[in-house]
Amino acid sequence: MVEIVETFADVRARHSDVGTVGLVPTLGFLHEGHSSLIRTARSACDIVTVSVFVNPLQFGEGEDFDRYPRDIDRDSHIAAAAGADIVFTPSLSEMFPEPPVTTVTLEALTDALSGRSRPTHFAGVATVVTKLFAGLQPDMAFFGRKDAQQLAVVTRLAADLSFPVEVVGCPIVREFDGLALSSRNIYLNDLERRAALGLSRGLMAVADAFESGTVDAESLEGIAYGAMAAEHLLEPEYAELHDAYSVVNLNTVDRDSFLAVAGRVGETRLIDNIRFDLTDHGIVVDRGVRLPRPVPEPT
Ligand code: AMP
Repeated sequence: MVEIVETFADVRARHSDVGTVGLVPTLGFLHEGHSSLIRTARSACDIVTVSVFVNPLQFGEGEDFDRYPRDIDRDSHIAAAAGADIVFTPSLSEMFPEPPVTTVTLEALTDALSGRSRPTHFAGVATVVTKLFAGLQPDMAFFGRKDAQQLAVVTRLAADLSFPVEVVGCPIVREFDGLALSSRNIYLNDLERRAALGLSRGLMAVADAFESGTVDAESLEGIAYGAMAAEHLLEPEYAELHDAYSVVNLNTVDRDSFLAVAGRVGETRLIDNIRFDLTDHGIVVDRGVRLPRPVPEPT
């Protein structure tokens, strides 16, 4: 059974003397993307803690902090089914006993891509992830490649601040039709969901083009942007190729990198990417993992 724990001290007590501690930080309203991180943590660690905290610092003015979906009973069941031992649900006052005057900002990595439209977002993420690393002392922490810029930020802050934690990036989980799973997909009506497929459709076309020999960023970005622009209900924000660690903009796919897209469908801002991994044998595309198609209702 999963245990719901509300304080840093109580989680830390359960983490002591148990071997390898794995942490999966989330905002909650868990889905199969989160479950895949939890399962990966389960296979690598002796104890797995999932944190569920809708972090106000990472939401900007006018964003969806208030309406972000919250359902801790549902989350506990999903976390338990995926193999978690502990669900850490700190209150606002547990996370911030005082309004914080100490925050974590990065001098690079955060201005590009989503940092342009969400200028305070990554400092909010970095501050709370730092508090989770300091307060829970995990040996390994699992993050999705879905948030590629966030993964770069967290990897870098762990190194810069000498946290003895291994940050593990895990593949994107997609619906059968390509849509990347996101807690925010619940905001989409049927028409909006169809339009949202412009993000992943473009990325899969980018992967196809790459595998057919196209490596220049401009062409690949054009393919991704074009697929978004073709959807009337989808307002593209960016389609850009960036280094996976430094997040600098690239002209060519020649290293670990990702082509990231963002767009707005109605009120809902969605992001997605495909990752290019440099291997001993060349560069391979990680398109993520697809869930099976649901069985249709009998007619
Ligand atoms: P969130 O609750 O949206 O902050 O996500 C918590 C963690 O789950 C982050 O590391 C995300 O990158 C990861 N995640 C969210 N959606 C997916 C997905 N579709 N596939 C894989 N990881 C995901």
